[in-house]
Amino acid sequence: MRLLILEDDAQLGEALSAGLRQLGHVVDWFRDGEHADQAVQSAAYDALVLDLGLPRTDGLTWLQRWRARGLALPVLVLTARDGVEQRIEGLDSGADDYLIKPIAVEELAARLRAMLRRATGRAQSEWVHGALRYDPATRQVRWGERSVELTAREIALLEALLKQPQRVLSKAQLQEQLYDWSGGEPESNALEVYVHHLRRKIHPGVIRTVRGVGYALGAPDEGAAP
Ligand code: CA
Repeated sequence: MRLLILEDDAQLGEALSAGLRQLGHVVDWFRDGEHADQAVQSAAYDALVLDLGLPRTDGLTWLQRWRARGLALPVLVLTARDGVEQRIEGLDSGADDYLIKPIAVEELAARLRAMLRRATGRAQSEWVHGALRYDPATRQVRWGERSVELTAREIALLEALLKQPQRVLSKAQLQEQLYDWSGGEPESNALEVYVHHLRRKIHPGVIRTVRGVGYALGAPDEGAAP
């Protein structure tokens, strides 16, 4: 998942972004709403983690602004233990879920998975496309009966394609799902290399190239009779 975190507390922001990156997510962390506001307008995030207690403009105001602007992104708010009214107001302002501080990264990750599941209309925790099965909780990938070992970037690419299994995604759209803004520009052929790895490790037909447009998942019956 590509995630945006808006949290002004340096220690918590650092811990959350490091923890979520370790779980394989691509994370942009901002300490003020102005930068986060620019980010939501320029990149496609899967979810936003929003601290309600921010200096100057608070998280609730940002959330209301974004929802008024039509931003549909799933939002999870972080609140203080005694902030019952804040939580209610957050949910009423368009938050999808909340967590009470102190935050456990594993729980945050599980809530984010559940939010994404709802946002993409899935009832099952496992993502299935023909012979391909992916469990975002354990990050296990299977092709038929065979378990496949993938790197974090390869999983991120596969996840981006599985999220919209019917769609052709451009290289720019896919790259956005693989890199945050801290690491500089990726190598120009990096995406092709990851696609090549996925085809080699999973199945040659798992990803199809749509010339001049980008990539899409292969047909679900691909590899049905391995
Ligand atoms: Ca705060």
